[in-house]
Amino acid sequence: MLNIGCHLSSARGYAAMGKEALSIDANIFQFFTRNPRGGEAKPLDLSDVEALCRILNENNFASVLAHAPYTLNLCSADSGIREFAQRILADDISRMEHIPQGMLNFHPGSHVKQGVEIGISLIAEALNKVLFSEQKTLVLLETMAGKGSEVGRNFEELAEIIKRVELNEKLGVCLDTCHVHDAGYDIVSSLDSVLEEFDKVIGLSRLKAIHLNDSKNPLGSHKDRHEVIGKGYIGLSALVNVINHPKLSHLPFYLETPNELPGYAEEIRLLRKNYRC
Ligand code: FE
Ligand code: FE
Ligand code: ZN
Repeated sequence: MLNIGCHLSSARGYAAMGKEALSIDANIFQFFTRNPRGGEAKPLDLSDVEALCRILNENNFASVLAHAPYTLNLCSADSGIREFAQRILADDISRMEHIPQGMLNFHPGSHVKQGVEIGISLIAEALNKVLFSEQKTLVLLETMAGKGSEVGRNFEELAEIIKRVELNEKLGVCLDTCHVHDAGYDIVSSLDSVLEEFDKVIGLSRLKAIHLNDSKNPLGSHKDRHEVIGKGYIGLSALVNVINHPKLSHLPFYLETPNELPGYAEEIRLLRKNYRC
């Protein structure tokens, strides 16, 4: 069974997302915990969350992935911005604690002019403040395209963050196919060796989710512009290889392609048809 879904809007509440996912034959989905540009989230409506959990249970959903605001920067040079980011991350984790199948993904951060070494140490320091031992929510670091001064542009940077976090059993990695491709990992012609490298540097047991996207730009462009499945530089056959790869086929695949619901439904149908496992 292919675990596939897409990014959905949380504007109409949590249970509404569960229903929307069902309507497009998805058995997982991703959503922003709040305005993707940051700021306060509405207080959690626990009866709505319960209604979602019932939908997840009754329909055997595999997992739900929350995405922290992409403006969150745990390694800003400004301590006020860092503290704000920590507070948002802590709040997002506490929200996800209500969803048993929940995970939370975030972009590690941008070091701006401080250098990657300082970026990595600030991110690890923040995670050491925010993660707590009773926490059930797995927190995922996303692989980044390396635009600007993004931390997480290669597997080594993510491994280094994980290594410095005490409660790193709470950490996993979300591999974004557009991002790793734009970062220079050739998943089109050398998927096996990219995964071997991931395993050597981070460990495949850390890999908990895939963002399945095509890319508007060529290998190594460091751009991060997502394209619909099959219309970009990665292409349908390489993405079909990703979902069918024996080391990946069990993972949840989240589409973040430029689509409205009917486009996502079409991609899900296409990928289910091409799943051979
Ligand atoms: Fe992301
Ligand atoms: Fe992504
Ligand atoms: Zn992206």
